[in-house]
Amino acid sequence: MRVIDSHVHFPADKIIDDGRGEPLPAKSSTDSGWEGTPLTGNEETEKMKQTGLSATTGKATILTGGSVPGAPSPADPWLRQEKEKWLRAWRFPKEETLSREEAKKRWLLEFERYPYLERVVFVTAGGNNFAAELAAAHPEHFLAYAHHDPLLPDAVERLEHAVKVQGLRGYKLLAPSIDRRIDDRSLYPLWETAQALEIPVLIHFGIMGGAGGVANHININPLSIHDVAKAFPHLSIIVPHFGCGYVFETLQLCWACPNVYIDTSGSNQWMRWMPYELNLEILFRKYRETIGAGRILFGSDSSWFPRGFTHAYLDEQLRAMIYVGYLESEIDTVLYGNAARLLKLS
Ligand SMILES: [Zn+2]
Repeated sequence: MRVIDSHVHFPADKIIDDGRGEPLPAKSSTDSGWEGTPLTGNEETEKMKQTGLSATTGKATILTGGSVPGAPSPADPWLRQEKEKWLRAWRFPKEETLSREEAKKRWLLEFERYPYLERVVFVTAGGNNFAAELAAAHPEHFLAYAHHDPLLPDAVERLEHAVKVQGLRGYKLLAPSIDRRIDDRSLYPLWETAQALEIPVLIHFGIMGGAGGVANHININPLSIHDVAKAFPHLSIIVPHFGCGYVFETLQLCWACPNVYIDTSGSNQWMRWMPYELNLEILFRKYRETIGAGRILFGSDSSWFPRGFTHAYLDEQLRAMIYVGYLESEIDTVLYGNAARLLKLS
């Protein structure tokens, strides 16, 4: 067995790179295009980081899977209880706070611990610059995505710089944290650039965070990327967590758009509160029947230590694939082949 974990968050406070403190190097001395003033208020982003709330919408915006380091611990007893339930259900240890250097070392050790693990893709790492540093330091194991705010005035240039200069291999976005319709024409240059750079774009749709997360937003529904997927047929779009609650919509999207992929990452605990019975076996069967194993990518959504690489998710997903009849070759495609192809590893 060989595995590429296509969805990992390097432990960091900042989920989306707000451009702060990481201006693009000027192309020339006369280039003054970037003023360091994003369209969205940076103070708000900062505040959001500290409180887990968006100043404009009052919604929690950066909590993903209830496991973001630095995220505030929920005050509500029910929310705390749900978080504890999740930790207990997976027997996850208590989260440690680590320095970047220490976390990097710990990630490297995971490759010794799990010999089948060939590479991890850091979809966020607290900023494009550090993501690039990580990927460059250990190219045999680490890959990383750009993850800057798409509403930054220089978002397109940042993406080009991230891929061409910094060696990043994809672009990660959280649709419910973009306060503009994701199919807005003003974002088309970004999709055009990603398509030309031949990098996949990983976009989270559906509820953000565990219990207490964001459940409503203009971009909550995966179908909101439909027109973009149609307009940019050579752009590979990855929808994580099997569509995170939006199974019907994600299946429709995948059926309509052959350039849409899904990833399997996380505990997918949203399956618990769907209005109909759902489990990993059903999901693996449905997606295989609809789009085939060739558009399903394994991911774990691992982030903090000492949990590290969340092999429990892999174990569960592997079992589900075996029980619903995936061939060995299809399992290899999901665990390795699809990511290798999209990320041009072979
Ligand atoms: Zn994630």
